[in-house]
Amino acid sequence: MTFTISQPRESYCCSQCGSKEVIGRGGRSRRFRTLPIGGKPVYLRLRVPRVECCDCGAVRQVEVGFADQRVSYTRSFERYALELSRYMTIKDVACHLRISWDVIKEIQKRNLLRRFGKPRLKHLKQIAIDEISTGKGHRYVTIVMDLQSGAVVHVGDGKGGDALTAFWNRLRCSGAKVQAVATDMSPAYIDAVLTHLPKATLVFDRFHVIKLYNEKLSELRRTLYHQLKDTMQKHALKGVRWLLLKRPENLDLSRREPQRLKEALRLNEPLATAYFLKEELNNIWEQEDQETAAALLMDWITYAESSGIQMLHKFAKTLRCHAWRILAWYDHPISTGPLEGTNNKIKTMKRQAYGFRDLEFLKLKILGIHETTYALVG
Ligand SMILES: [Zn+2]
Repeated sequence: MTFTISQPRESYCCSQCGSKEVIGRGGRSRRFRTLPIGGKPVYLRLRVPRVECCDCGAVRQVEVGFADQRVSYTRSFERYALELSRYMTIKDVACHLRISWDVIKEIQKRNLLRRFGKPRLKHLKQIAIDEISTGKGHRYVTIVMDLQSGAVVHVGDGKGGDALTAFWNRLRCSGAKVQAVATDMSPAYIDAVLTHLPKATLVFDRFHVIKLYNEKLSELRRTLYHQLKDTMQKHALKGVRWLLLKRPENLDLSRREPQRLKEALRLNEPLATAYFLKEELNNIWEQEDQETAAALLMDWITYAESSGIQMLHKFAKTLRCHAWRILAWYDHPISTGPLEGTNNKIKTMKRQAYGFRDLEFLKLKILGIHETTYALVG
């Protein structure tokens, strides 16, 4: 269904300077998609006049009041498509409106760009930085989150320091006074934060520290397993990897997990020591105050260093280097935890192919994820 409309001569004005002193210079016929009537697609046909301005000399098409520049659908059509996008996938909306998938995606992208393209940074006080895998082939994006609002304020390509360059530039221009940053223990982030936010406190994320320890614990179990000659002992050590990583309160009684773990630890002293220290490491974040935590951490380090177990020795050295960044948690109890929630939403999104085809779209979706009004799947 097509409606042909026209613009009255007296309303012509220059799109450059707004002057009404213009002379008609032909025009071009254009067609715009607009709201459907029932199930029928509806078009508006308009001959868009071209005018020459007597004031500024420009020769231009006059502005079309109901559509953005360079698009072939009206603003009301755009609003309707966005409204539907809150409940339906891109494919469903496209199918319902009988228009191509690309047009609906473009409408969403333009809207995301308007709303989230340039996040405000001036108010930032506490941020978390972490990388997130965007799917197969080990592709990563690095995400910066405002911990007060939960909004993602930067999505950088790849991981490591380079992924943050654009963020630091924007942050500097914004004049924000960031007080604390939560990251994992990777040297790239440490360097980046020390260089660009020398006044901020760097806080190592608790769960990343524990995760790193757990990785070392698994390695230790593997090494010990291969060193063992006794088949009995080997048998006891086999298959306890997950039990070592579990918190004791999560062990499954019905599957004899506490017994199996106990048996493995009884047979192997280094493993028992490392396991015991894992629980102690967790306690560093459970103290009344920083002073008690500091004492506990120093005890931990001393104990680990004198254990004679190489893996513990190395880990203790790392902790000694960064002790105050762990203890800084008592001044700024922040973590990268809130980023995990975002990560889960991204996992839902990235199953969709557009994440790989159009990285820019994926990044915009992540920037808007805290107030997502779209169906996440596309
Ligand atoms: Zn003009």
